[in-house]
Amino acid sequence: MCRLILEPVILIIKTFIQVARDIARTVCEWVTRTIRTVREVVEKICKSLPWPLSLLCNFVTKVIEVIENITEWVCREVIDRIFEWVQVVMEYIYYIARWVCWLITWITVRWIEYLLCRAGIEVSKNIRICVKVLSENISNKKTGAVTIQPAATNAELNAMLNQVSAVFRQCNINIIVDSIDIIGHPEFLRTTTCDFGNTFSSFWVTFSREACSSKNLFPVITVYVVEKMTNAGGCAFPGTDWIITNNPANSRSGLPLSAGNTIVQEIGHLCDLFAHSSDPNNVMTDQPGGTSDQLDEHQCCIIRSSRFVTFG
Ligand SMILES: [Zn+2]
Repeated sequence: MCRLILEPVILIIKTFIQVARDIARTVCEWVTRTIRTVREVVEKICKSLPWPLSLLCNFVTKVIEVIENITEWVCREVIDRIFEWVQVVMEYIYYIARWVCWLITWITVRWIEYLLCRAGIEVSKNIRICVKVLSENISNKKTGAVTIQPAATNAELNAMLNQVSAVFRQCNINIIVDSIDIIGHPEFLRTTTCDFGNTFSSFWVTFSREACSSKNLFPVITVYVVEKMTNAGGCAFPGTDWIITNNPANSRSGLPLSAGNTIVQEIGHLCDLFAHSSDPNNVMTDQPGGTSDQLDEHQCCIIRSSRFVTFG
């Protein structure tokens, strides 16, 4: 309920800031273009004037040129920077607001849902995800042709998502894949890392900003697929609506989990399963040597009562 109110508010604020930024850009372009035109006209007039008027006129041209440069600088370096800065700060405010909602939900309804689930009431529920695959442009040295190389192929994605579905079926949860998109961001293809300090990093802000927004008021988890992470197979920042997974077919990480199970583990972290399991057969494990695809009753009930799991 809390999120049902919060998410549209966030969307409205985001849209408002983006529109204001676009308007500022348009105004800036118009102002600089007008000053440029004025300078060009004055320059022409200067040429037709006799000395010493032309000298004075040239001085005026120089002044206009300075104003033109200052305006361009203010538009590019000051106004645009301020908007960039506001958008980053707002991501942190949304993040804190989502945690406040998390607390309110636990106190009011979630503990009841959890207990009912433990009592055996487990009707079918859904988790919606949207997949964003990072990619880079590879140019063929011989032909010069540029091809887009995504972090995972369609076959690899299908294998991952089938695994995710199979594991969540243990909790009577269906996976609904809203969309699969190939996005750019080659700078994050192999550079993302997983620790709390990254909450202030550029990929965190980018992934938060570009995460899919809720569809028809249903929450959506965005799964960013990268080629590899520097220190993990996947990552979730509790409080956000997105996770990162690597593509094991692409990586040399040597981690015990397969990608589908990594996705389940990261979703588990988002749904409040913060700790790892010592059982190598459990999907929340950090130990090698097991199937890493099992969820126990407590884990199922925590996931089922979380904000990402809905009846519709
Ligand atoms: Zn983990």
